[in-house]
Amino acid sequence: MERDRRHIAIMGSTGSIGTQALEVIENHPDDFVVEVLTAYNNADLLIKQAIEHRPNAVVIGNDQRYDYVNDALSSEDIKVYAGSEALDSVVEMDTIDMVLAAMVGFSGLSSTVHSINAGKDIALANKETLVVAGEYITKLASEKAVNIYPVDSEHSAIFQCMVGEFHNRIERIILTASGGPFRGKKAEDLVNITKAQALKHPNWDMGAKITIDSATLMNKGLEVIEAKWLFNLDSDQIDVVVHPQSIIHSMVEFEDGSIKAQMGLPDMRIPIQFALSYPNRLKSAFPRFSFADYPMLNFEKPDMETFRNLALAYDALRKGGNVPCVLNAANEIAVDAFLHDKIGFLQIPDLIEGCLSKVPFIKSPRLEDYFETDKETRILAKEIIK
Ligand code: MG
Repeated sequence: MERDRRHIAIMGSTGSIGTQALEVIENHPDDFVVEVLTAYNNADLLIKQAIEHRPNAVVIGNDQRYDYVNDALSSEDIKVYAGSEALDSVVEMDTIDMVLAAMVGFSGLSSTVHSINAGKDIALANKETLVVAGEYITKLASEKAVNIYPVDSEHSAIFQCMVGEFHNRIERIILTASGGPFRGKKAEDLVNITKAQALKHPNWDMGAKITIDSATLMNKGLEVIEAKWLFNLDSDQIDVVVHPQSIIHSMVEFEDGSIKAQMGLPDMRIPIQFALSYPNRLKSAFPRFSFADYPMLNFEKPDMETFRNLALAYDALRKGGNVPCVLNAANEIAVDAFLHDKIGFLQIPDLIEGCLSKVPFIKSPRLEDYFETDKETRILAKEIIK
């Protein structure tokens, strides 16, 4: 008899997390089935993935590419849908057990809300969802008895440290940060940074948006906010330490003063696999860590004066309400503008700060307020750039 395989919908299958998730799934055909694949623009890769992994359905977010995808898959027994409404409704399919939320940025929020409403467990790679609407999402998940398993390596590390400890209280968590490509630099060294320099991450191979966020330390700021909601912590229980080798993926300190760390080579396939297979650990052939290759592991305080985004994120977390949503939207516009050579590296925090000071504060946002705040912030950010 076939053992129960987990049926997975991958939202954002053509991105860095999506493609690595497919690799994990391919290595474990007795454990997983691909139920749905989605992409926004990358029709060619979506078609290739569909032919290889035989999902029940695919969605191309950009509906202008519908005919192209549909024609290519016309002889296959695969349903083809297009448009953002299809991204929301496809997650409601009965056959899905778990949704891997791997879309980039605010765009991942809507389908994740639909997934939770449909009672699907979430493997969460899209940190922006919790940054923007953490209070709403965690409350909804608990009402619907939906589990959210972190994919982000730091949060996976904390989650792994918590296995067997869920009745024990966390005193604080320590998120590790590589420090990015500009660690040790001061503002005057960063004036003329190019996007090619910012896109060269020392340890992790990731998508463009998150790589720039790593260079500005905004990625760590977003992760601080994400951790607050995933593990129900106060901002003063969340510390960040720079650890350039990225071997310790994060730590938990318990009330007896004991610290647990999760470590290994920086390889996103491990946290992806653990989120998909929890509570089981599946065998893998990923490269193993050797202590002899790393005689030194270093730690230092983050430089929040040079990399102001991390301070702005802590600030947004403490203010709460719609402030983290403003932070996120302004950052998405700023990163995009930097990648298109419209603003310099140091203007990224300037732009975010400008938006934070102008968008009206909403203390207890409803779901539609997040969409409104996001829209308003994007318009404002684009006006400031002009
Ligand atoms: Mg991370």
